[in-house]
Amino acid sequence: MRLSRYFLPVLKENPAEAQIVSHRYMLRAGMIKQQAAGIYSWLPMGFKVLRRIEQIVHEEQQRAGHIPLLMPTLQPADLWRESGRYDDYGQEMLRIRDRHERDMLYGPTNEEMITDIFRSHVNSYKDLPLTLYHIQWKFRDEVRPRFGVMRGREFLMKDGYNFDLTREDALHAYNRHMVSYLRTYERMGLTAIPMRADSGPIGGDDTHEFLVLASTGESEVFYDSAVTELKLGDRAVDYDNREEVAAICAEFTTPYARTDETHDAAVFDAIPEGRRKVGRGIEVGQIFFFGTKYSEPMGATVVTADGSRVPVQMGSHGIGVSRLVGALIEANHDDKGIIWPEGVTPFSVGIVNLKQGDGSTDSACESIYAALKAKGLDPLYDDRDERAGAKFATADLIGLPWRITVGPRGIAANKVELTSRRTGESEEMSPEAAIDRMA
Ligand code: ATP
Ligand code: MG
Ligand code: MG
Ligand code: MG
Repeated sequence: MRLSRYFLPVLKENPAEAQIVSHRYMLRAGMIKQQAAGIYSWLPMGFKVLRRIEQIVHEEQQRAGHIPLLMPTLQPADLWRESGRYDDYGQEMLRIRDRHERDMLYGPTNEEMITDIFRSHVNSYKDLPLTLYHIQWKFRDEVRPRFGVMRGREFLMKDGYNFDLTREDALHAYNRHMVSYLRTYERMGLTAIPMRADSGPIGGDDTHEFLVLASTGESEVFYDSAVTELKLGDRAVDYDNREEVAAICAEFTTPYARTDETHDAAVFDAIPEGRRKVGRGIEVGQIFFFGTKYSEPMGATVVTADGSRVPVQMGSHGIGVSRLVGALIEANHDDKGIIWPEGVTPFSVGIVNLKQGDGSTDSACESIYAALKAKGLDPLYDDRDERAGAKFATADLIGLPWRITVGPRGIAANKVELTSRRTGESEEMSPEAAIDRMA
């Protein structure tokens, strides 16, 4: 992409309404525009990051054997009357009436609807196990929408639902989700710690939240620092192997890590003092096992091998896809701007032309741009007629992992500069060498 032809409405001033750094940088880098409290348009660069996050979520869910579908944003109230949640959900639910006076709602989550799909089409234990998921917009009329996309009213969520015959099978599905989530966050360059949590309005027995440590997080967290050292890395996981999956969950949940809701001071105090940490975290996902909470009232049953009929065992599992964009910035920035991890960056590399209009500089930039594209990379070429200082400021703000700087003096000696946004280190090299370094 050539910046002169892109739509990147960068703001020079700090927007007064933004209280935290991710919100400030998302507005300044022209990633989002607020349309109403907690409701945003995703401008091209924000949309690109959102799509990259979505893509990783899809890949990791499908790797774990989970099947994508798409449910609507609007739901009939009657489904929620069946589970009893239409009255329980309260003011967070946006209720709508259509022209036929039918009660509708903008879905805050989809347990009822997926249970309805299941009961309409699945009848036998032979069709289990089954896990269905989608990535769809949700609406929750939050009391205090704030921090930009981190606490929106309309937000994008991946929500998945497992259907199993036995409690043991459903717990395996729970564990499978935990491991697939760990891998998902790691691929984005994030450390999200699974913490024992409280089940809240979803209801249920077993639940973990995934928290990204950040001083601006809304949850208070207590943890053993040993948990922050754990990495899944590139180990191969066989998602059908129950013992293997359970062992990974045990590894990641053995060190103490809890939110204030489930914190137990006595257990915490037994951890060696140097490893005892209190901080704040951003909830980027949550998994629940809740057995027959929805299948029983809604009549989602299967026939077992001995011919009897039992309600199916379920769980639900969410990832805050749009919140992750903010969380990623909270975890990756400096005072000049965003520092995108390679896994989610909107463009892989930036090219900065220090003297637009200078024949040899322009042609060097053009050939670097073409060569990077030919390698299948997605470069952003700053070909605007701007001062070098303004170009550097934009590059730092939008935070692409690599910058190739091309100027007339360097190019006369066949040299460009390759700069890492994360370390700030620059190296001089030939244009060919810089192109080679870009994976
Ligand atoms: P929170 O405690 O932050 O209100 P939640 O526990 O109500 O979140 P869940 O029902 O667990 O949310 O939804 C799954 C995920 O969706 C959350 O882990 C979070 O990442 C994301 N999410 C929830 N509410 C919002 C929101 N208002 N804006 C953006 N993302 C959200
Ligand atoms: Mg909430
Ligand atoms: Mg929560
Ligand atoms: Mg939650």
